[in-house]
Amino acid sequence: MDLIQLAGKNIVVMGVANERSIAWGVAKRLMEVGANVIFTYRKERSKGKIEKLLADYEAYKTAVVECDVNSDESIAKAFEEIGAAFGTIHGIVHSVAFAHAEDLKNRFVETTREGYAFAQDTSAYSLVAVSKAAKPYLSEDASIVTMSYLGADRVLDGYNVMGVAKAALEAAMRYLAADLGTDGIRVNAISAGAIRTLAAKGVPSFNQILNKIGETAPLKRNTNQEEVADMTIVMLSRLSRGVTGETIYVDSGYNIMG
Ligand code: NAD
Repeated sequence: MDLIQLAGKNIVVMGVANERSIAWGVAKRLMEVGANVIFTYRKERSKGKIEKLLADYEAYKTAVVECDVNSDESIAKAFEEIGAAFGTIHGIVHSVAFAHAEDLKNRFVETTREGYAFAQDTSAYSLVAVSKAAKPYLSEDASIVTMSYLGADRVLDGYNVMGVAKAALEAAMRYLAADLGTDGIRVNAISAGAIRTLAAKGVPSFNQILNKIGETAPLKRNTNQEEVADMTIVMLSRLSRGVTGETIYVDSGYNIMG
């Protein structure tokens, strides 16, 4: 019995920059279970990286579409293109965030109005903007999953403006879940543990964070791309059909510790 039922489904995966990206882990798993994956990218460099990675997946139905989440025009164009090519969208993986490096390095009190707004726009409002543009194409059992981090709930050294953006992202996720639930659409967040990716490079003292989690987490180790990908598959699939508006931690249990 196929409990997942993602074969032949059209899933949009946003945020693959390279093979280390959390979104790439999800995309690999999605292709393995037979889903069609539509990748979106912001930079030409990422497009090249995605196309290179897809060289090993030629037998799969995929597409690569430009989408800068800071631009309503770019988002609208991307989803019109995806809608025209694929018709229905069954799921979206929103794995996108960005803040200015100085807003992570400086004292939090130094955060500028522009830096605050930029982090919110890219990392939190983008989930609303994407859901809105995708809405006409979403199936009546569609599932949207976004990636968050513990910095949404706790003050974590060096996470600063991004922690505030993740708090807004999780709240936006809940409001979207309440709103889109009337259409049968589910919206959830996965709060991933620390994983060494391009985005993580911007977080000062990342190595210390990894060490602390490895020592403190109930499982006494860090999580990885595969574990986050597997839970994302669950949240996209019918296995989680009774779950919406939740933040699911995939962090070796670190968040429960004092
Ligand atoms: P990553 O750098 O591989 O992915 C971030 C992606 O965001 C990149 O592909 C980048 O191109 C994209 N992006 C940034 N601005 C954009 C824009 N304006 N338009 C479109 N795309 C844009 O790093 P990652 O760690 O895989 O991050 C993915 C998500 O997971 C992020 O939301 C991040 O905050 C979250 N997360 C990461 C960790 C970690 O430790 N790596 C932990 C928890 C949550």
